[in-house]
Amino acid sequence: MNRIRLLLAILVGKTFIIISRLLGNQGSSFPGKMARRIYPGILRELAAKVNGKIIIVTGTNGKTTTSNMLGRIISEPGTVLVHNQSGANMLPGITTAFIEKTSLTGRKHFDYALLETDEAYVPLLIEEVNAGLLLITNFFSDQLDRFGELDNIVKMIKDTVKDREIDLLLNADDPLTAHFRDLTSAHSFYFGFTATGYDSYDSRESREGRHCVICGQELEYQRYHYAGLGKFTCPGCGNHNPEPDFTGHNLVMNPTIELMVDDLEINSPYQGFYNAYNVVAAVAAARIIGINQQQIQTAIAGYQPQAGRMETFHINGRPAVLILVKNPTGLNQSLTTVIQDHSSKNLVFALNDNAGDGRDISWIWDADIEVIEEEQDRIKQIICSGLRSGDMALRVKYAGYPVDRLQIRSNLKEAIAHIAGLEGEKIYLLSTYSALFECRKILLDLQKQSDKIPVEVPARG
Ligand SMILES: [Zn+2]
Repeated sequence: MNRIRLLLAILVGKTFIIISRLLGNQGSSFPGKMARRIYPGILRELAAKVNGKIIIVTGTNGKTTTSNMLGRIISEPGTVLVHNQSGANMLPGITTAFIEKTSLTGRKHFDYALLETDEAYVPLLIEEVNAGLLLITNFFSDQLDRFGELDNIVKMIKDTVKDREIDLLLNADDPLTAHFRDLTSAHSFYFGFTATGYDSYDSRESREGRHCVICGQELEYQRYHYAGLGKFTCPGCGNHNPEPDFTGHNLVMNPTIELMVDDLEINSPYQGFYNAYNVVAAVAAARIIGINQQQIQTAIAGYQPQAGRMETFHINGRPAVLILVKNPTGLNQSLTTVIQDHSSKNLVFALNDNAGDGRDISWIWDADIEVIEEEQDRIKQIICSGLRSGDMALRVKYAGYPVDRLQIRSNLKEAIAHIAGLEGEKIYLLSTYSALFECRKILLDLQKQSDKIPVEVPARG
């Protein structure tokens, strides 16, 4: 009976996958949802056909980039990898990913499964799939605490992994996840950084003030790599960073990433320290499952940023970099990338408050926009756009940016067209989620137009 329901669920799922493709939806969770209604055991059964490891990737920031990099590393020709697309990272979306890769008989075997999911869904997922490795990129309480959820999620994940045959891969520089090993019986690997030339020692960045998870005292940091990640000790109980098994060092961002992970040299077209963490996490996971060094190097070097994750367009011969921002930590890190790039540049902030962005935009006041002061001379103009362009302009004004170089253009198309016509070597667009795809479309159109006219080299400012 189950066999018949499984076959029917696969058939229905595959049909809906084809329909949703025709409708232009990718990474849909709907086919999986329908299949699970017909046969709730479908994910459990299909996941049992993974011969190699099932890897779960979770965390507050970087899980999509990390899992996509890792997916690229694993997908050699001939390897059957089940990998859910971002945006479909709950159980139905993951079920869709398995249905897509299985055969109509449901008997096909897979080499690996790479499953990206939100922290809150890890326990449910682990109930249905026999995961071999759980990678946690980091936990940022500034985002989770909005929902008062951090403690709850940490506890749920701990309870879930306890006494299971699952390895953890954790961020040694993140005090909120580093202790998982001590609280569970799970074997843990760690990745982290040694001191880098980009560390800060007394940052002005509005940090959440991290507290020791063991005794509650405020942690002391010797250095910060990025946000609350760094070298810490607890003055109360001595809790400190665990020794990493995979160490990032010799980091150079010029502006793309070059670094070593132990003795392996890695180059990535990505930018920014937070992406350097994603690279190290992906390399560590690949090493754990036994992928050879050259395959890792080649895949990461060839892996280009995707929409909103530092995607670069070329408009009139100048790079325009599009970055998705959705919380203060992400915005701080994006701004760090902007100010570390010493080209002359213009900036667009596209702030929307649709459901996909979060209705509450007060988070822009938590971000450390004041850092732009350091680069004020090279940031020629800032245009605030999107549904909440006025709020963003007010925030930028309070950050001390000169108002005579600050503009509000709520219409995105106008804002981007304007900035594309300005002098400067580079354009940066920082956009919230619901404005991202419109920005992308406008940039692609401008890129197409500028491909048709001869390239002008802009004057260096
Ligand atoms: Zn302590």
